[in-house]
This record gives sequence, structure tokens and C-alpha cells, in this order.
Amino acid sequence: MAGSGFIGEEIRVESPDVIYTDTEILSYYNYHDSHIRGNVVTPTMERLVFKTQRQLPKTGLLLVGWGGNNGTTLTAGILANKLNVTWNTKEGLNHPNYLGSICKSVTMRVGIDDRFMPVYAPLNNVVPLLNPNDLEIWGWDISSVNMGDAMRRAKVLDWDLQRQLYSNLKEMLPWPSVYIPEWIAANQSDRADNCLKGTKKEMLNALRQNIKDYKNSRRLDKVVIVWTANTEKFALIKPGVNDTADNLLRAIENNSPDISPSTLFAVASILESCTYINGSPQNTFVPGCIELSERYHVLIAGDDFKSGQTKIKSVLSDFLINSGLKLQSVVSYNHLGNNDGKNLSAPETFRSKEISKSGVIDDVVRANRLMYKSNESPDHCVVIKYVPYVGDSKRAMDEYISEIFMGGRNTISMHNTCEDSLLAAPIILDLVILAELCTRIQVKRDKDEEFTKMHPVMSLLSFLLKSPQVPPGSPVVHMLFPQRYAITLLKSPQVPPGSPVVHMLFPQRYAITNFFKALIGLPPENFMMLEHKVP
Ligand code: NAD
Repeated sequence: MAGSGFIGEEIRVESPDVIYTDTEILSYYNYHDSHIRGNVVTPTMERLVFKTQRQLPKTGLLLVGWGGNNGTTLTAGILANKLNVTWNTKEGLNHPNYLGSICKSVTMRVGIDDRFMPVYAPLNNVVPLLNPNDLEIWGWDISSVNMGDAMRRAKVLDWDLQRQLYSNLKEMLPWPSVYIPEWIAANQSDRADNCLKGTKKEMLNALRQNIKDYKNSRRLDKVVIVWTANTEKFALIKPGVNDTADNLLRAIENNSPDISPSTLFAVASILESCTYINGSPQNTFVPGCIELSERYHVLIAGDDFKSGQTKIKSVLSDFLINSGLKLQSVVSYNHLGNNDGKNLSAPETFRSKEISKSGVIDDVVRANRLMYKSNESPDHCVVIKYVPYVGDSKRAMDEYISEIFMGGRNTISMHNTCEDSLLAAPIILDLVILAELCTRIQVKRDKDEEFTKMHPVMSLLSFLLKSPQVPPGSPVVHMLFPQRYAITLLKSPQVPPGSPVVHMLFPQRYAITNFFKALIGLPPENFMMLEHKVP
């Protein structure tokens, strides 16, 4: 579709630095940055080679907490898309879609056409991506309710849609799961009727067997596992227990009470070579678990889906501070009435969410030493209340106060109402699709012989997660150019330990699209539009 500003088919790059074979795309890529010592800045360039497998594997998605609002909304949404089910509401006939998914509903700028006009393409025309309709889905839940009734219990989707999907979904029964009452709120006990019995080691083995059996019975090439179960309390990091991979495995053998259900799932997933994503705020990835993922080169990502309020916060704090307005107070109130809200009404699980939501303005504040001294940061307060009547339709009220020119003050208040699970479900999809892509990519420095896999901690997925995990030892600071973050994906001894955590939404987004460009040997988006400025 030349001249339309849109590329509607797979992109093919013509360049001596890009080679397409039937099975792979090889990209020789010049990675530019600047190195700074004192006030001396030296431009740097490193030649990297990316190798991306083009064939899409048959992939399974296993959800922990399958019968919850997110799990059922995602499963029903994919089924509706797959079967093209339409449904009636008082507004008229609705068609299924994937709005909210960057892999399915967003385009990226690829370059300019003959008239210097921008040309865009969907991400899956840049490199091949899984189609969500092809995913095989199953999962675990501590509640034995089938997916049809669980979808009804969630009260998220329109009734006419539920009615048409019910018979398919009611055949889907979740596997029993790991229920250890101390780790989630006591108010969840009444739904826990589908629980594994035995020691931690026995439960770990049962989870591993579920994964193996599912993979074999569905003839899957890959399985991705996502925790979308209730938020747990934080785990204490204890030397000798969960601080190293060996200690963690030993602690499981010894049935240690310090190992959370979510860490047990992560370990099962890693030992079965399945990518594991943590969609809740708790610290599933204790140091021993991260070491285990490195040992087996299994990709992990977390924590906590970034669906609404946090996304806005990462945009607004970036906008205010980078406009030179001194943000001094951020206060966020939420109330919600779904089972997630009920679980978060207990102090220990709320604390996990509070920690996850609190870090989001750190990097933009610390990048600005003109306005903020090194130990200074805005007041930041997060309140979450459980109000059953509003169900899944979460309310978020935020107030931002900034100091402005000559002693003035600027207060922005906002009110956001949205079905939480309808925002989270497409984010889960994107995490799965992008994580699967990461498993098909290998990378090396041009001078090296061997390709290696990406670093197992997928910081690339930060756009989709509230409290992004980065490779261990990371300082939580700095606003850097998006393309910088591609290098945190490299598994290489030359990468300094620790990568900066980026919370700002647009840098996170351009980290993804620029990374896509790198995979096909194109330069990162630079926004300069010099073709329109240079006579
Ligand atoms: P939900 O309460 O509706 O669903 C959670 C499900 O997990 C329930 O069916 C519960 O029975 C099950 N469960 C609890 N412990 C389990 C275990 N050990 N093993 C297996 N199943 C278990 O909650 P939700 O609204 O679907 O949200 C799920 C998680 O995602 C929550 O932790 C929430 O904080 C997080 N999250 C949600 C959003 C969003 O926008 N919806 C955003 C960010 C994070």
C-alpha cells in the first residue's frame, strides 16, 4: 500500500546489514550512545547482531488464578475473537476486538515515503508475532468453579456475550493450586476448595507434571505462564532460604514456610523451561529465583500489570517535571469492588500493592537535580479501599500539585472510572506475545563467535508492568534514551551489573518499538524530522 502511510504486510528491509532466510532475520546493528566521564562526553558505537526466528511456535498460555476476573475476561475475550462472536447491548451490536493491546492495535513509525511523509506499520508486520487467537489456554485456581460460571461471577462482560460463550467455557476446569492461607488475605478462604495437598516439594512436582502433560497433550512447542492470582504479602529475603538458587531449592525440599505459592510457581515454570510473568505486586522473584532463571536461561518478567492509574502517573509526572514544573504532591485514591479489591483490603497484601505503586515517579524525579536535591522527592500517597457495589469498575482519583513560576501552584485533579479487567486482559496478551518473541531472539557482539539468548530478566516489558524487574543490582534511577534499554537485554559480561529502572511511559514504549526496529536493522526513532528542516 505505497503512499498510504501504512504498511499492511510483512516489512522487508533492503540493506547489506539485514539478511532474511526462510527461518531467520539477521540484523547487524550499530548501537549508538555516549559515554561520560566528568564533563567529557564521548560518542560510543557498538556493533551488535540480532538473530530472530521467523517461525511462530505453537504456544500455550497457563494462567495462575485462571478463574479470577482477569483470567476469565482474557479467556472469554480470546474465545469471542476466535469464534467472531457478536453480541447485543442497548447501544447496538458489538464486535470482538483487541483494543488495549499494543501488539494488536498500535502502529509504529517505520520511516518516510517519497513525499517525506511518515509511514506506519503494526508491530507484527515488523517481526512475526503470535496471534492471540492461536493461543491454547488453561490454568490453575484455588477455586474449583468452571470458567463459564467464573466468568459470570466476575460480572465483567456483557450478558449477551456471556450467554453465547458459556457452554464452551463451562467445560474448562482449573487444575488444583497451591493454597497457603498466610500468603493471601484471610477473606479468600471461602473460595479455596481446589487445593493441592502435600509438602512444597510434592506441590512443585504436581505443578511441573501439569505443565508437562499439557505441553504433550496439546503438542505445544512453548508454554508461557502468567501469575494473575491474588496479590500475596511480601516475602522476607532470608539468607540460607531464598537468597540463592541452591538455597531456594533446598528450602523447597525442606518444606520451608518462607516460600510463597507464587515463588513455587515461578520455580516450577523455570525448571520446565517456561517463561514466567508475575502480574501481581508481590516479590515472587526473590534473589534465589532470579539466579535460577539465569542458571537455566529461562525468561522472567514482572511485577504487577500496569493498567490504569499507574500508567497515567508515569505520564503526568514525566509531563510536569519535564515541563519544568516542580511536582510536590501526588495523592491517589482507588476504590474497587471486585475480589482483587477484597483481597487488597487486608493490610499485608495492600502493602505489596502500595510498594508497587510508589516507585513510579522515582526515575523522573531523580533525573532532575536542578529542581530536586539528591534526597528530595514529592509527597506520594496511595490509598485503596474495597467498595463491593462498584464491582470491577474501579475508580481512581488523583491529585497532582506542582510549584510553578514565581511561587504559584498548579493543582490537577482527575477522576477515572474503568472496568479493571478489560484494561488488564489485553496487557496480559501483550506480555505473552512480547515474551514469546524474546525467546526467539538471540544476540551477540559482532566480534563474538557465539550468539546468546537475551538476558532472562525481560526489562523490555516495563511498559506493561508497574514495578519493572531489571537484571539484579539495579539502581532505581535515571531518565535515559529509550534505545539504551535494549542493551539491558544482552547477556554479556561486559554489561555493568544493574540496569536503570525506567518508569516513564513513553521511554518504555519507545524501548519496545526501537527494539523492534533494531531487529530489522533500522535506526531508532529520533523525532527530529530533519528532512523538513534542512533546506
Ligand atoms: P481476582 O481476585 O478476580 O482473581 C484472582 C484469582 O486467583 C481468583 O480466582 C482466586 O481464586 C485465584 N487464586 C488466589 N490464590 C491462588 C493461588 N495460589 N493459585 C491459583 N489461584 C489462586 O483478581 P483479578 O482482578 O483477576 O486480579 C488478579 C491479580 O492481578 C491481582 O493480584 C491484581 O492485583 C493483579 N492486577 C490486576 C490489575 C487489573 O487491572 N485488573 C492490574 C494490576 C494487577
